[in-house]
Amino acid sequence: MQTVIEKIIEGEETLNQQKIEKAARILREGGLVAFPTETVYGLGADALNPSAAAQIYQAKGRPSDNPLIVHISCMEDLERITLQVPPQARKMAEHFWPGPLTMIFEKSEIVPAETTGGLNTVAVRMPSHPAALALIRAAGGYIAAPSANTSGKPSPTLAEHVALDMEGRIPLILDGGAVGIGIESTIVDFSEKIPMVLRPGYITPEMIKEVIGEIEMDPGLVEENSNIHPKAPGMKYKHYAPRAELILVNGAQEKVQQTINNLTREAVESGKAAGVIGTDESCKGYQYGIVKSIGTRSDEDTIARHMYGILREFDEQNVDIIYSESFSTPRIGQAIMNRMLKAAGHQVIEV
Ligand code: AMP
Ligand code: MG
Repeated sequence: MQTVIEKIIEGEETLNQQKIEKAARILREGGLVAFPTETVYGLGADALNPSAAAQIYQAKGRPSDNPLIVHISCMEDLERITLQVPPQARKMAEHFWPGPLTMIFEKSEIVPAETTGGLNTVAVRMPSHPAALALIRAAGGYIAAPSANTSGKPSPTLAEHVALDMEGRIPLILDGGAVGIGIESTIVDFSEKIPMVLRPGYITPEMIKEVIGEIEMDPGLVEENSNIHPKAPGMKYKHYAPRAELILVNGAQEKVQQTINNLTREAVESGKAAGVIGTDESCKGYQYGIVKSIGTRSDEDTIARHMYGILREFDEQNVDIIYSESFSTPRIGQAIMNRMLKAAGHQVIEV
């Protein structure tokens, strides 16, 4: 299968609408399309068509018990796919939709088991990206879409990343340029009495508490290395990982820098290609290997936005081992470190 890439170009509304219509037709006919959202690129299929949803698992190599998120474009469409929407969830929707928030509800019978990985709940998100919203509307209202990467790899934040993973597997990629946020949505479960965060994201527990009061964190998140299983099935898999070995170094900045310099020197001397992930502030202090800045500590959004891209760049440069600073930044540090720790297989050196 040949994969066509169609660019969404600002100011070219008529042309863009034609490209979106072409993508929507593929979706309505049961095919797959990758498209930009504000978080990461999604790999979409008609969420109400069992065989379409099933193709997503095949294209990604995704385990079949890992459910998909259903993307909608308006509140009215939420009612058809859920049994009930608690008042607190409505409040959340008013505050955070469209945006990087996914909520989990009991599903209605029109949502096939293929979309929910066999669960009787459904994850729903209303993205804010204009091309995503237009595509959802044109495709009939419900697009099931996980991130558009091969299962286990870093999520795609550029159409080029999608092409690398999905070339020949899907007919069309809508290219909307670089995404704005760069990490996946926050997932909150409303299918039980007390709402629970199953995956941290750009919308933090503090922001949620301001809207609906007390919430719980999935115990499987807090104790990531224990044998408590996280409730979001996808959270238990190795994830976001580059081909290279990734090791995080955590502690006071000066010590981190010293340790990374020692370790990269040893790696280079033993004939390995080494990489370093630092920040705009710290990069000049690293002396060995390929040094890349993930962003600036004065704006943590830049760190989230570049995280996956930088892991993929190191893969392209055939690096064997990457040493990275850790990024427990004030607001979204929990979401960033949740991904970095998984990408590193929890290898952390404390200094
Ligand atoms: P992705 O879109 O690739 O980021 O993956 C979607 C995430 O949502 C995975 O971690 C899934 O396990 C999680 N998810 C989707 N539906 C449900 C559900 N009904 N219950 C719990 N977690 C879900
Ligand atoms: Mg994913």
